[in-house]
Amino acid sequence: MAHSCAVCDTKTSAGKKFIQSCLNTHEVVCLGFHNTLLRKGCEDKCHSCKNQAESEERWQKSLEIQKKEIEWGKKENLSKKQMKELNDNFDKLEREYEDWLKATYEKTWERQTGYYMWLAGCK
Ligand SMILES: [Zn+2]
Ligand SMILES: [Zn+2]
Repeated sequence: MAHSCAVCDTKTSAGKKFIQSCLNTHEVVCLGFHNTLLRKGCEDKCHSCKNQAESEERWQKSLEIQKKEIEWGKKENLSKKQMKELNDNFDKLEREYEDWLKATYEKTWERQTGYYMWLAGCK
């Protein structure tokens, strides 16, 4: 993690000094533990976090659309074959979304571990 404090310009490579004078005072790590420290108060400005939130929104919107299609299909009395297709599509999308969530969670966990190891190494 190579970075300089936005407030006092201390570098992360200063290790202990950075942690004591900057971390959580001047700068904080984002919620997703992306490899960026942000000026305190700007935690929500992380681009990676934003991208992640946008992806999640897209997934949920797609699922919602397919759910509505299923409801519509029931109302319209679609054939069993057609309904099966709609349900299968929905199940497939839901599985893909779960995989995405799991992968995202694992990556976040890895970054979090990396961050705490960096912290521990500086103490
Ligand atoms: Zn600082
Ligand atoms: Zn982030």
